[in-house]
Amino acid sequence: MPTSQRTPKADPPEVNGKSSESLPPRRTWASFLLLLLANYLLVRFLILGPEQVTVVPYTVFKQQVVAGNVDAVYNRGETVEGRFENPVTWQPPVRGDGSRPEAVTVTDFETILPYFLDPGLEQLLIDNQVEIRAEPIQTGPSTLWTLVFGLGPAFLIIGFYFWLFRRASRQGGLGAGMMGMGKSKARRFDLEAEAKVTFEDVAGIDEAENELVEIVDFLKAPEKYTRLGGTAPKGVLLVGAPGTGKTLLAKAVAGEAGVPFFSVSAAEFVEMIVGVGAARVRDLFKQAREAAPAIIFIDEIDAVGRARGQVAIGGASEQEQTLNQILTEMDGFSSREGVIVLAATNQPDVLDKALLRPGRFDRRVVVNLPDKTGRKAILEVHTRDVPLAADVDLREIAANTPGFSGADIRNLVNEAALLAARREQNVVHTKDFNDALEKILLGPERPILLSQADRERIAYHESGHAVLGLLVPGADPVHRVTIVPRGQALGVTYQRPQTDRYNYPEEYLRARIIGMLGGRAAEEVVYGTRTTGAENDIEQATQMARGMVTRWGMSDKLGLVQLAPKQNPYLGISYGNDAPVSEETARLIDAEVRRIIDESYTEAKRLLQEHRARLDALVAALLERDTLDEQEILEVTGLPPAPPLESRPLQQ
Ligand code: ADP
Ligand code: ZN
Repeated sequence: MPTSQRTPKADPPEVNGKSSESLPPRRTWASFLLLLLANYLLVRFLILGPEQVTVVPYTVFKQQVVAGNVDAVYNRGETVEGRFENPVTWQPPVRGDGSRPEAVTVTDFETILPYFLDPGLEQLLIDNQVEIRAEPIQTGPSTLWTLVFGLGPAFLIIGFYFWLFRRASRQGGLGAGMMGMGKSKARRFDLEAEAKVTFEDVAGIDEAENELVEIVDFLKAPEKYTRLGGTAPKGVLLVGAPGTGKTLLAKAVAGEAGVPFFSVSAAEFVEMIVGVGAARVRDLFKQAREAAPAIIFIDEIDAVGRARGQVAIGGASEQEQTLNQILTEMDGFSSREGVIVLAATNQPDVLDKALLRPGRFDRRVVVNLPDKTGRKAILEVHTRDVPLAADVDLREIAANTPGFSGADIRNLVNEAALLAARREQNVVHTKDFNDALEKILLGPERPILLSQADRERIAYHESGHAVLGLLVPGADPVHRVTIVPRGQALGVTYQRPQTDRYNYPEEYLRARIIGMLGGRAAEEVVYGTRTTGAENDIEQATQMARGMVTRWGMSDKLGLVQLAPKQNPYLGISYGNDAPVSEETARLIDAEVRRIIDESYTEAKRLLQEHRARLDALVAALLERDTLDEQEILEVTGLPPAPPLESRPLQQ
């Protein structure tokens, strides 16, 4: 786990983040705007007509009549429109803001008759042989045009909505009766079309795999199981962290058995319109039963399978209906039909108990994060088509990637191959893997210019972490220290556990907290001032100390009482609200967390003061070389790797 120095308010780097789902249909909006624009232009040019009519003052008009320059006029309401025989250049008056508009040359004009009647006008026009026409007041050029262009846009809009509606219905919606809206979105992976996935492609999660072998057997020869009246499983719940290979396993089961694979994400069931989800479920099961034997795979079942009554805001009844439909369908077919439903989730605790009853998802297969051996096996699968240099040791890479899921490992191999290609190599080297790993864990290098003083300060901070990583018994070995800014971090000390850990002794947690506070401790020992650089360290240390007090019963003052909300082991988030504690207990928790942090910080400062010379040596080396690996760190500091925790018998 890297401890890093960060800029304030920086988010932790996205480690192994998944890419987001496809965006909502933005094109729809584009077409809508386009339509509006077309509409406007239509009205603007066709209805108003292209010719330019300029409004001129009545006096100009009258002067031109006298000058014999008016050809004809026609009168509509209070306006008179007409045409000058010779174009007239007219200077409009100065505007309110003092600017002088340009003179305009007018041929077609319009003028507004003044309120006071001009008794001489008619005679004047006749005298000057101006043709006079009058028309009744009318708003459009002609009735037919008005109809066509006035209503056209409305028709267009109606047509557009109709099209939208059709499109939506093609993707499913409303009841099955209405234009096929309830069609399920399940994709049928036909075996010929898809590259066949088998257990060969799945590695490192052997227990889960073994549990599914029986399912494959059943799909291949259902009679063997049902002959004696037994029933085969109908539903299997695959439980595990994201990216551990649940989807892959389901596909492999279908591939091994040679049966069609229907896959859908439960989130797709739920739409805005009530009843759609249920219709889709019905349709999905119908398709699968027609193709039996077959596998149905429902990803993220918790999206609809959440215990009823504790649903997130909105769509409660829709979700309930969809869930009920799934239950009905699962009860409705007999296992003899050869349809098996595999569902995946990383939140098994929120699932409705009804889903887990016998005859439904009564089997649970836990898909764990792979251990070191497992990671090596997964690396082998994903490097099958990658040319590796002789120096690549997959065992070493597996050791360097604790906590990685199968998907993370695939991503690592891919990044390394891309890097090697960019470096114009023909094979992938260990260095490519290491660089790819660093990029994934810490983000890409960030070219920011730091002053020498800043670099020194960062070097002290990181060296503080590193030296304590060597001094404190039980600390994870320090793998690498760097003061090259990466992602959100200005520098990184990367410590990696020697073995996969499943159970953490209290002393180890203490060692971790001391190490985390080492950055700030070094800064304070050396400079006597503080910076924002320890934000992330403080956050992690506090979280760990709080866990010791509230979750793992490591505070004698509070004892073995659960004081924190339950945590989801696959996602690392808490469920629900904080456990109800009295005000007094809350105060005690704070005090205990505080005590652990304070003790650790004091210890960190004491050790660094005692080993100040080693700290300075490491800083000097870092300023010179930017990055040091494990061997170099040991040489520069002259320290051996941190001693293991002595196993002490429990006192008292
Ligand atoms: P999940 O469904 O658990 O979120 P996926 O099955 O979608 O995870 O895994 C994504 C990808 O990661 C797979 O397509 C595969 O390439 C790779 N992967 C995950 N787990 C494994 C594994 N155990 N062995 C080999 N590849 C794996
Ligand atoms: Zn730090």
